[in-house]
Amino acid sequence: MQSFDSGKAPPISVTPSPSQIICGRLEVTEALTLTTRLDKLDKLDKLDKLIEGHQRFHREVFPGKREQFHLLAEMQAPEWLFITCSDSRVLPDLFLQTGPGDLFITRNAGNVIPLSGEEDGATATIEYAVEVLKVKHAILCGHSDCGALKAALNPSSLKNLPKASRWLAHVEEAFTHRQPLDPADGENAELVSLIKGNVVAQLANLRAQPSVARALAHNKIEVHGWYYDILTGRIEQYDEQERKFLPLLG
Ligand code: ZN
Repeated sequence: MQSFDSGKAPPISVTPSPSQIICGRLEVTEALTLTTRLDKLDKLDKLDKLIEGHQRFHREVFPGKREQFHLLAEMQAPEWLFITCSDSRVLPDLFLQTGPGDLFITRNAGNVIPLSGEEDGATATIEYAVEVLKVKHAILCGHSDCGALKAALNPSSLKNLPKASRWLAHVEEAFTHRQPLDPADGENAELVSLIKGNVVAQLANLRAQPSVARALAHNKIEVHGWYYDILTGRIEQYDEQERKFLPLLG
């Protein structure tokens, strides 16, 4: 838990008073109340981090970008559609050094593009990006240590997560596109191979989206499959001709 400064509530003592101790035990109801209060305080502390961040943004960052935000306030014209995982470690605006108005982003567990007929967030976002925003590039980006593909390798880990289990049916195609094992990936070689296989599989699903297929037929869009490595901060791109991943930076 964060330390308390003078502007915040004083810390709650976790040491029980003599009246709270019965036969050497903390009275149960008192203990539960204390635990609940500590939980709430802990959550508040964590939310404080976001509120303080927003305060810093509003005070230090926003004034320098006021004109840019003024231009963006009523319209956007991003050139790139970016489809990636929900993972908290994947920050495209950080590793691509992009800013407001640059990337049109859709994220979900495993950077999946479902092919089933039911509407979902990813395919609706793709349709809008291609048909209305007329993005010039669509980038499908997987990443190292992806929990979705880890779960695909170990389905029993999702036995109490029915929705996640059903969602991961969308990554099954990754197994048929697994990439060659790379000894440099050590004990993660199988996982990396599957994550990259999923990029190839979802890239095919991206091409199959009606809006994307139309734009591709008229040379109005390019699609790309990327793999982002959290450990090195580097990106590999899937080369359609060579059918393998190559460093984006050459
Ligand atoms: Zn992931």
